[in-house]
Amino acid sequence: MTQGVRGTAVIPQENGFDEVTILWISEGMSCDGDSVSMTASGQPAIEDIVLGLIPGLPKVNVHNKVLSPAAGGEEFLAPYRRAARGEMTEPFILVIEGSIPNENINGDGYWTSFGNDERTGEPLTLNWWIDQLAPKAWAVVAAGTCATYGGIHAMAGNPTGCMGLADYLGWDFRSQGGLPIVNVPGCPIQPENFMETLTWVLYHAAGSAPPPPLDHMLRPQWLFGKTVHEGCDRAAYYEQADFAKDYNSPKCQVKIGCWGPVINCNVPKRGWMGGVGGCPNVGGICIACTMPGFPDRFMPFMDMPPGGSLSTMLIKPYGAVIRRLRGLTNATANREPKWHHNGPELTSGYNPRWRPYGPADPRRQAAMERNKP
Ligand code: SF4
Ligand code: SF4
Repeated sequence: MTQGVRGTAVIPQENGFDEVTILWISEGMSCDGDSVSMTASGQPAIEDIVLGLIPGLPKVNVHNKVLSPAAGGEEFLAPYRRAARGEMTEPFILVIEGSIPNENINGDGYWTSFGNDERTGEPLTLNWWIDQLAPKAWAVVAAGTCATYGGIHAMAGNPTGCMGLADYLGWDFRSQGGLPIVNVPGCPIQPENFMETLTWVLYHAAGSAPPPPLDHMLRPQWLFGKTVHEGCDRAAYYEQADFAKDYNSPKCQVKIGCWGPVINCNVPKRGWMGGVGGCPNVGGICIACTMPGFPDRFMPFMDMPPGGSLSTMLIKPYGAVIRRLRGLTNATANREPKWHHNGPELTSGYNPRWRPYGPADPRRQAAMERNKP
């Protein structure tokens, strides 16, 4: 299979592509935490994708500065420069990590840089790279809450005026592959959330999957369609109005700052690495790090969320009664039946005279008649 190239636009092939390049840029307002987090994924691991161990995926070339075997500098920048010139022969997926600053208000300098302009020697900003690469990319993916919605760097009082990728490119942006921006929020991304999404995009590039289903905030629906609370194994405490008073408790943490009931995230359900870890499920309040309003709407983190006081008050009488009733039933369920003993008599209710119907028994004949097809 070959890929057609017209000018800078890679034309999608009906049967999909057999080679895809990933150009990952984390030079925005970023801590590289999403790049690091991605390496913790097991299903699939980034190595599985790069080594071609997943059946049906295209050959994938990953360029990410944290993982790059390149010496750095111009050697690392070469594929980015090639893509910016429109000379990439295979389709590429642009992954942005970190929020995008407003370079219109950078004063005399630059908020970001990723390589220098070869002619002027001046820094090339993240914004310049996005302007060059996003219109040519087969797909555009935003990794982490900073790249998706602005995140911590875009909080009130920040000097860079930074924002998420869709704020920068427009929410109706479409890539060369006809896809909207694919947002995978999380601060950082849950490793498998990101790798699953990337795998879906790659299967779509291979021509063997439809586009990934996204919600109105461009998040994968199957990952962000439920709330933290719906997947939290402390929700039974909530339902019984059994609330933690401090951070050493195994009970529901809503009164000590957990935002789980209103947050779209699957981490407690999924765990962090290999099903281990998480947030409220293991004692850390949910601070809503996947949400477009993060962090300002949820601060100060360790105060009870505003809706928490009403909902916990409403559930209190019901929870107290249910907890009491369940306690009684639980006490019963914790006793063995009284016929489990080593006494001289059998007290299990065994009846030695009971027999199933014999072959000649008329009741058996009648039952067989009844059950005839
Ligand atoms: S700890 Fe948070 S997410 Fe878990 S049950 Fe309580 S409120 Fe819900
Ligand atoms: S559970 Fe809450 S704090 Fe944890 S990853 Fe999800 S949104 Fe972030």
